[in-house]
Amino acid sequence: MTLASDGTVYLVGAGPGDPDLLTVKARRLLDEADVVLHDRLAGDDVLATCPDSAEVVDVGKKPGPDGERTTQEEINALLVRKARSGRDVVRLKGGDPTVFGRGGEESEHLAAAGVDFEVVPGITSAVAAPAVAGIPPTHRDCASSLTVVTGHEDPTKAESALDWESLAGNVAAGGTLVVLMGVGRLPDNVAALRERGLDADTPAAMVERATREAEFTVTGTLDTIVERARRVGVDPPAVTVVGDVVDVRGRVAEYLRGAGATGAVGGAERPVSDNRGVE
Ligand code: SAH
Repeated sequence: MTLASDGTVYLVGAGPGDPDLLTVKARRLLDEADVVLHDRLAGDDVLATCPDSAEVVDVGKKPGPDGERTTQEEINALLVRKARSGRDVVRLKGGDPTVFGRGGEESEHLAAAGVDFEVVPGITSAVAAPAVAGIPPTHRDCASSLTVVTGHEDPTKAESALDWESLAGNVAAGGTLVVLMGVGRLPDNVAALRERGLDADTPAAMVERATREAEFTVTGTLDTIVERARRVGVDPPAVTVVGDVVDVRGRVAEYLRGAGATGAVGGAERPVSDNRGVE
């Protein structure tokens, strides 16, 4: 049973990183929050806007024994504890809280503990990262479906929850595949798509740190993207996009504005010319 004196937990999406892309509601809740529990992905620029009066706790930092940071159990317990102390809690997550953000798990835990909560959607990087780089996730002429997957799984493992046959089939049929958390396994994932029959010249791109300082985009094909990403040193957070929509970037890049449009903003180590596809 919720007590009248308990606080509410707001599972809030912070968007892809630019504070201007917080929703109005996220902005208001952050301004009014007693406690902010945030992931690393929430982004430094957004965190810098938290009011001094709020207790800001980084639950994405402390590495645990298995390399995990603060465990999910610890986060769940903390959410309940803070709310029971009568304070309103903003649980701030990068992008949207329910897209590979464990918002579902946390809401189940809060419900089981009898703590009131609200989900405040955010702009997911799955859509925002390609979009700001000039790659529309769908397009009437060349993409009528959008599939978002985690690239973290080992595609060679039988117990993978991803059906690479279907993923490749969707792209072949004119769909867009967006892979989150896929930097480390990029070579495996590209190989998995190629083995399921996708053409070597299928367009592919990676967008790193979308809407943040040093946003960077590298384009190519399934044949070239692994080497190009390696050469420019793509690091997380980055999304991978596979499908014909990637080619739209080349047609709009000249007029595209924004942090990632003209090159490696704040990231001088990457040559500007690489931004339109490394040759
Ligand atoms: N809830 C988040 C996703 C969390 S999973 C969302 O809706 O966006 C973490 C993955 O999100 C990263 O590995 C990366 O693939 C992607 N990501 C998050 N922010 C990003 C950004 N600013 N630019 C590119 N990719 C980003």
